[in-house]
Amino acid sequence: MQVSVAYLILSDIHANLEALEAVLADAKGLYDTILCLGDVVGYGADPNAACEWMRANAAATVRGNHDRAACGLEDLRYFNPVARTSAIWTREELTEENLDWLRTLPQGPLVMDGKRKPFALVHGSPADEDEYLIESADARMFSGSLDQQVTFFGHTHVQGGFLLARGVASRISPQTAVQFEPDYFYLINPGSIGQPRDGDPRAAYAIYSPENQAAEYRRVAYDIRGAAEKIHDAGLPGFLASRLYEGV
Ligand code: ZN
Repeated sequence: MQVSVAYLILSDIHANLEALEAVLADAKGLYDTILCLGDVVGYGADPNAACEWMRANAAATVRGNHDRAACGLEDLRYFNPVARTSAIWTREELTEENLDWLRTLPQGPLVMDGKRKPFALVHGSPADEDEYLIESADARMFSGSLDQQVTFFGHTHVQGGFLLARGVASRISPQTAVQFEPDYFYLINPGSIGQPRDGDPRAAYAIYSPENQAAEYRRVAYDIRGAAEKIHDAGLPGFLASRLYEGV
């Protein structure tokens, strides 16, 4: 008998422990394997706790641009001033063990065997870990070139994604669960745990069930004030705290 597997898909945690803890409480019992699409650190005030939790619990993590920045693999000249300030703060805050772990994170795409059929994990896009898939036109570029039917991506901090069908890309509404249909390809963004930017300040994540061929988008309220106060206390730019309340 095949054991059913469900994946908890996490992305863009950004060292927000309050948001991560709320997601884990909300998702309890719904999954047995944890996968992470990167940006474990950067912006938030708990980079060590976020790394340690991910190291201990995630079956696989692909690196994000903020993970590279924190461990010295990224030229900070290309970061905006707020991101650069937080990357430098994060680098100084992280333990050697966590810096080493960040340096070893693989670049996506990472192909998971998925029990029933393989699927892919990327941070930005299937072609470029730093590319933002924002518009349908961005996603349409991948029509006809994907080896896996389902790719999970992050980086934009916008829950949703795209359906690719016969050369056309259409946006997937995160209001609903997505049922994967044969012959179509899917780019699925679970949204950001620690710094949502789609106007909904609640932490975002997804559950993927290969058995049901479905992904469910989920949101959960968390202690934004607690996360924001830690950002202030750390001396990080105030915008990183205030934006959490708005989800922008
Ligand atoms: Zn991010």
